Amino acid sequence: MGDAGGPVVGASGVEGTTGVGGASGVGGASGVGGASGVGGASGVGGASGSARMIDALPLPAGFTSYTWAATVEEVAERHGLSVEHVLKFDQNTPPLPGIPQVPLAESLARLNEYPDGQYRELREAAAAYVGSDTGWEQVVVGAGADDLILLCARTFLGPGRRAAITGPTYSLYRIATQLAGAEHAETVEGADLIWRCNPNNPTGEVTPAADLVELARARPGTVVVVDEAYIEFGGESIVPFLAGTPNLIVLRTLSKAFGFAALRVGFAVAAPATAALLEQRRAPAPVAAPAARIAAAALREPRFDLAPTIAERERVRVALVAAGWDAPVVTGNFVWVRSGEPLAERLESEGLIVRRFPQGIRITLRRPSENDILLRALGAEPGPRGGRSATVVRTTTETALRITLDLDGSGQARVATGIGFLDHLLTLMSFHAGFDLDCLAGGDLDVDEHHTVEDVLASLGTALAQALGTREGVARYGSAVVPMDEARAIAAVDLVRRPHAEIALAFTGDRVGGLALSLLPHALQRFAMEAGCTVHVEASGLDDHHVVEAAFKALGQALRQAVAPGGAGIRSTKGAA
Ligand code: PMP
Repeated sequence: MGDAGGPVVGASGVEGTTGVGGASGVGGASGVGGASGVGGASGVGGASGSARMIDALPLPAGFTSYTWAATVEEVAERHGLSVEHVLKFDQNTPPLPGIPQVPLAESLARLNEYPDGQYRELREAAAAYVGSDTGWEQVVVGAGADDLILLCARTFLGPGRRAAITGPTYSLYRIATQLAGAEHAETVEGADLIWRCNPNNPTGEVTPAADLVELARARPGTVVVVDEAYIEFGGESIVPFLAGTPNLIVLRTLSKAFGFAALRVGFAVAAPATAALLEQRRAPAPVAAPAARIAAAALREPRFDLAPTIAERERVRVALVAAGWDAPVVTGNFVWVRSGEPLAERLESEGLIVRRFPQGIRITLRRPSENDILLRALGAEPGPRGGRSATVVRTTTETALRITLDLDGSGQARVATGIGFLDHLLTLMSFHAGFDLDCLAGGDLDVDEHHTVEDVLASLGTALAQALGTREGVARYGSAVVPMDEARAIAAVDLVRRPHAEIALAFTGDRVGGLALSLLPHALQRFAMEAGCTVHVEASGLDDHHVVEAAFKALGQALRQAVAPGGAGIRSTKGAA
């Protein structure tokens, strides 16, 4: 690094304008090393205050750092849309989060301590998960597969070495190679390391495991890193061949099938001696302790069900092909559309964010009703979808919201209305109804919560009506009595189209948290009217929090019974809904 002067990463320090440390990047005039920053007159090493250059290692000409697709907020602002209108199809993550299968209190009570630096529990769980008698010492953990890509690069690449990358593929292989100071080319001949993604992102192509093993065995001096980030969706793992092939490394992640991208957990598996090389070079504690615990529990008992995603992928792909798009067969939780048109730009102007590549676009699958919005934007006619789900997008001058409701879900909810207690109630209700609910709402909360509460419940009713479709084949009636300590609620539902609501909630006070309780009867009425069904809810008790919770739980339980399959046709002596 520099000498006595104040360090400044300047325009001439590195290549590229958008790269890390580029002229407009980290090291801009006011950035980390800016004249007024760390390296200023009184900063680290700043003796005179005169601008000197931090002597960062040069990056190759034209280097570009990792770039994410635009954020929801950016796209909303750029195209004059509300954030609730913007849907992200770019991250190859599942639409709803994985559920931690361990109580977190214990981890959270130890936030002052470092994780177990050996990560024994996580490594044992990962070894058992990948099978093939893998030993825990063959597993190396990292902050996502990304961290392990960088670890492989710094273990096996450097100046004078070369990696083989066949594109289009995951951009981090090139970035990691270049950051290590190595070259990259397409040809595998003479390469020190070969990056392979299987199934491949973004094309969804699968390479037979035998071909990858053959590639490695034919070149014992070359490391072959096989990134199996999407292997749960299909394709054959190379794990069974690791022990006998020391130059083979496999990478796995908890970000895709497991739905834990925010936790940042990935792992590499290799023959013991190769794993040891990586282990020597890894950071002391790359995975946070709570993340490691959640990941270990999930690996011990994986709970994901990928069949619906895979079926949905085919439904979307077939609809695109029928509309004339070049959408090849893929393995993964995404669809690949080959096209030279500026499709990503076009979709973005409608609030639909996809991943763009020079060769086409990659569309991550969301909920079926959300995928239909994207299909229509591409001029494709969505085919019939299995399951019962709906997406409602609604904007008024008072509120903007998006609700995706899946009646055949597993009770997972992601609710953000800006009113914490309403989020809590909708989460409870979906859990007890067995619905998956994704609800994002922004409203004029600066006025009061009235419009948001009413519009959210009304739109939830609309979503329920749409998801029910013809209402054929459902049980129709549901009822529940739910106690909550001293409070007790009764709910009864009839789904056949007789919109009517009887709501009697006996409160002792005015508010719970940010929610005025007087809004609830009216909002539940709107729910019943929009859903086109009869809803009775009665609840009373001493604690208003308990009263409302019991009411929403009871409504959830009643809905669960009413939407359950109940034989053919419409369950009415009139024969009509
Ligand atoms: N490998 C591939 C092929 C990917 O597509 C991604 C993420 N898009 C990653 C690795 C990164 O995974 P992680 O979240 O575990 O860092």
